[in-house]
Amino acid sequence: MGKTIIISNRLPVQLQISNGGITAVPSVGGLATGMKSVHSGGDSLWIGWSGLTDEEIPEELADDIDSALAEHGSSKVKLTADEVDGFYYGFSNRTIWPLFHYFLEYSEFELASWETYKKVNQKFADAILQKSEDDDIIWVHDYQLMLVPQMVREKRPNIAIGFFLHIPFPSYEIFRTMPWREEVLQGLLGADLIGFHTYDYERHFLSSVRRLLGLEVSFNEIYLENRVIKADSFPMGIDYKKFRDAALEHKKRDPEKLSELQKRLNKHKAADPEAKFFLSIDRLDYSKGIAKRLNAFEYFLNKYPQYKEKVRLIILAVPSRSNVPQYQLLKREIDELVGRINGEFSTVSWTPIWYFYRSMPFENLIDLYTSSDIAWLTPLRDGMNLVAKEYIATRTDQTGVLILSEMAGSANEMNESLLINPNNFEQIADALFEAINMPKEEQQARNELLQKRLERYDVERWANDFMNSLRGQKDRDAANVSKRMTDSRLSTVLEEYRKAKKRLLFLDYDGTLAGFHNDPQKAGPDEELYKLLDALKEQPGTVLFIISGRDKDTFTRWFLPKKYNMIVEHGVWISRDGEDFKLLENVKNDWMDKIRPVLESFVDRTPGSFIEEKNYSLAWHYRKTDPDFGNLRATELSTVLTSLIGTDDLSVLNGNKVMEVKSSNVNKGRASMRMLGENDYDFVFAIGDDWTDEFMFQELPESTVTVKVGRQKTSAKYFVENTMKVRELFEIVYKSINLGQTLNDEKIALRKYLLSGHNDVCPTEH
Ligand code: UDP
Repeated sequence: MGKTIIISNRLPVQLQISNGGITAVPSVGGLATGMKSVHSGGDSLWIGWSGLTDEEIPEELADDIDSALAEHGSSKVKLTADEVDGFYYGFSNRTIWPLFHYFLEYSEFELASWETYKKVNQKFADAILQKSEDDDIIWVHDYQLMLVPQMVREKRPNIAIGFFLHIPFPSYEIFRTMPWREEVLQGLLGADLIGFHTYDYERHFLSSVRRLLGLEVSFNEIYLENRVIKADSFPMGIDYKKFRDAALEHKKRDPEKLSELQKRLNKHKAADPEAKFFLSIDRLDYSKGIAKRLNAFEYFLNKYPQYKEKVRLIILAVPSRSNVPQYQLLKREIDELVGRINGEFSTVSWTPIWYFYRSMPFENLIDLYTSSDIAWLTPLRDGMNLVAKEYIATRTDQTGVLILSEMAGSANEMNESLLINPNNFEQIADALFEAINMPKEEQQARNELLQKRLERYDVERWANDFMNSLRGQKDRDAANVSKRMTDSRLSTVLEEYRKAKKRLLFLDYDGTLAGFHNDPQKAGPDEELYKLLDALKEQPGTVLFIISGRDKDTFTRWFLPKKYNMIVEHGVWISRDGEDFKLLENVKNDWMDKIRPVLESFVDRTPGSFIEEKNYSLAWHYRKTDPDFGNLRATELSTVLTSLIGTDDLSVLNGNKVMEVKSSNVNKGRASMRMLGENDYDFVFAIGDDWTDEFMFQELPESTVTVKVGRQKTSAKYFVENTMKVRELFEIVYKSINLGQTLNDEKIALRKYLLSGHNDVCPTEH
């Protein structure tokens, strides 16, 4: 691998212009810290916006800025004030941010800001393209840059690209309301690895990909025409040691050297040692639920009036995006609420809420974390929430209680905190009561577990895990055992084909010779397919079998008049040269009466699914069901069937949107091997698309030319992308053999095949 390139909206340095000169000061935020191990030395570059618009950068300082940034391994993307307005304050923060945080009513769908978003994403992509080589590894960060992966991929098809989303990915039902939803998904799918904070966000993303783009998703992998993309969750940690060490140092500090804020906090503590501090720290953002928290505080004081004058809520609201109207309204709402509650409850010696609207330096954050008995962090929706983790890290004596919203990503890893629903005031008031009264030993027991976890999975580990997974994904792709059937490979295969005296071909039907149809009976052969099969069949020395899981009656109708050789029901029946089907295997079907009712109960509970009855097998089809629901039911059915058929000679085959129960000693591998044993073949070929075809790929001899249709995991040697490519492949074989055209002959379809297959840039070509 070459260098690492990190891309985020903002650079990890702040530019300061003073006295006609420029200085670049490193930022200390979570991302900048986390990326330290990745962004080190000369083999890494960080590309982003400097924070100054083109209009704000004096011309004479432009070069100085570049060299100041270069000293920190950074390079800037130039943005005008208008671009920042449309891209950052516009589409990023008025469309995506509210939508992805489930504030549908705040989401604005403005074509102009979408256009600016695209334009600015292209600027970032161009900056990467300019600075990158093919063997570099690219890590794109966050919702402002969701189109960048595909924009880079188009120009550099082989480069390793990772993307991490730092905010939630919403449920499909929310995501689909966005007018440019497909473009956004396609933008993201330019990456090899797409990371999320939690499994739920990952799940939502995969569901949108499946439903909106109709792509095949298997577990956490997405199959695109010629690539496999992985989605995974990597919960971001904090710089645990930094917070821990700062808290330890704070504890030992000479009282004289304490900050003014700490001295004030200590004074109040001394006045009433029993009184409790509740701490709330957030950016002033509607997703953080600050107003709800204030209302819940009022509710608590009314429900448990014994705590009046005994508790104090310290609110630190950090100014954020103050030129977006919703944020201005929110600021006003919170100012008013604080005023009203303080007005209502204050006494001469007690103000219930201390409210700070500013950003605090690190030292003061540590003061607040270490002095507060209870951290009360209840966002309505939050990608992660690092404050919760920071609070726990600073509790050196392991006391302190964290009350955390279930809607924060961090809740997944912080089960030992008091998890609440931020909309449930009753539950919140009770959680505050429980926190105030929680025995010290219980606090310590909970925090010990939390601290261990946070220490182990810190931000550096997070960054390294992501990078390792990205490298792994790329290596896996490169080492993919099946290789695309490129022109050079095809010409070698054709050469062998031509030389062979006795050829044996096994062709799967559904998903290989024909595409899928919601109604399997409608997926019958077309004229073009008959023509191709006739042509192949007529070649001297070629024995062709259509080998399928289909029932014999359907194939009798479709293919018997054409006298094709056929093996159906995975190897139960065989027909040659137009003769009626005969049993190829002796199989029992007395188990069917036991299994049928089980499948029927799944049909009843899964709208759109149905049973296909074959002579020796039963198949449950779920192609027409909702994709997520269907997969869920299929997993359930597989568990039920596996436990039921434990002792029988039956097996469950999980095909392409179909689950089939059949006798274990019947499969396409066994059937094809029997055919192979009948003659002395010197060229064997097998092609298929699903799991049931893998039996052929695995059992036929090593010299067999095995071809998988699609990019899923396979034992086949080669792959082609789809059924269209299968047709083209056979057309080439036919024209080359039957018509004697050569590979160089322009008339054969090969050129079409090559030109449409991106073969010159095949990532898996060795
Ligand atoms: N923070 C800060 N100064 C402040 C208040 C908070 O630097 O005055 C930091 C805090 O330490 C935390 C970050 O801001 O690392 C907030 O991260 P979080 O994930 O909680 O929320 P976000 O703002 O990313 O939505």
